[in-house]
Amino acid sequence: MTTLKAINDLSRHTEPLRAELDGAIKRVLDRGWFVLGPEVTAFEQEFAAYCGASHCVSLASGTDALEMALRALGIGPGKTVLTVANAGLYSTIAIFATGATPVYAEILPDKLLIDPTDMKRILDSRKVDAIIVTHLYGLLANMRSILLFAREKGVPVIEDCAQAHGASRQGKKAGSLADIACFSFYPTKNLGALGDGGAVTTSSPELAEAIRQLRQYGWSKKYQASRAGGHNSRLDELQAAILRAKLPLLDTWNARRRDIAKRYNTGIRHPKITTPGTHGEEYVAHLYVIRTAEREALKQHLAAANIPCDIHYPIPDFAQPAYSALFTGVRLPITTQVCKEVLTLPCFPELGDDEVDTIIAHINAW
Ligand SMILES: *Cc1c(COP(=O)(O)O)cnc(C)c1O
Repeated sequence: MTTLKAINDLSRHTEPLRAELDGAIKRVLDRGWFVLGPEVTAFEQEFAAYCGASHCVSLASGTDALEMALRALGIGPGKTVLTVANAGLYSTIAIFATGATPVYAEILPDKLLIDPTDMKRILDSRKVDAIIVTHLYGLLANMRSILLFAREKGVPVIEDCAQAHGASRQGKKAGSLADIACFSFYPTKNLGALGDGGAVTTSSPELAEAIRQLRQYGWSKKYQASRAGGHNSRLDELQAAILRAKLPLLDTWNARRRDIAKRYNTGIRHPKITTPGTHGEEYVAHLYVIRTAEREALKQHLAAANIPCDIHYPIPDFAQPAYSALFTGVRLPITTQVCKEVLTLPCFPELGDDEVDTIIAHINAW
């Protein structure tokens, strides 16, 4: 038995931060400036510096970030965007929102990230106008091969970093590895607000300016819309102040998440369960995901012990009821199989070693 209330108990996360969060909220209330003010400006500078990008433009959500990154790159009706189908539909939604069409690459059977070889096969066989690379579960994709193949064809690359805040390889962080990157600050993300939020980071001044216009009605100046496809999508001052209070703690939280993942990897020993690989700084353990062909039975076993778990994600994008009629010809056997096998165990910084050990014991006893 565990006393976990949910797969991610956010009350444990915010309780120790009450003084800092109250202070941040009070600062905004005292100032009386609620949209596009000094907290947003400061957060954008601090988060760009953290990611090693020249610019950060904050937005209302991660999904908006994906859509606006696509629009800034000129994606719209008649264009095609390459992505994967096992990453929760977010990229697909954003692609459709621009009027473009998604095309899906297969994933690597061990890492569950985009397979660069399949990506290259698609790039060689048809016109692709942009690529979205999701650092799924907090693990950085193989950007070297991806960028190599994409640059050969002149196709821009977008990172989806919504699960990978702070992940790094050879000192370079998620958000600085491609042309433009998208983040979500949904409360359960590695860096989460107390509501919705998102951002893009980029080192291109032109893309940053395009996003700044798109987030505010397409305005180039007040009441002058110079760019079509504008939205109202702004991070508010309260959420920016909250994120500023939390950003200095992100690396500590990520290290703890990574330790929990390692503890699971060392402890779980079961012939019917595959654990993910053990990784260093390139993995920030947003989600700890195991695989088993008998997922339903394992879920029931864990439920009986009050151990919360979840599935990220159960349905491939191309098989979602709202869109499946458009993708009747799509055959991606690894993606399809993986969606039937993945199971997410609790993994958040405030989870105790004793709780992890209890979960491991229950799993090994299955
Ligand atoms: C959460 C998430 C998003 C969407 O972010 P929202 O802020 O919820 O719109 C996009 N991509 C991935 C991989 C995510 O995990």
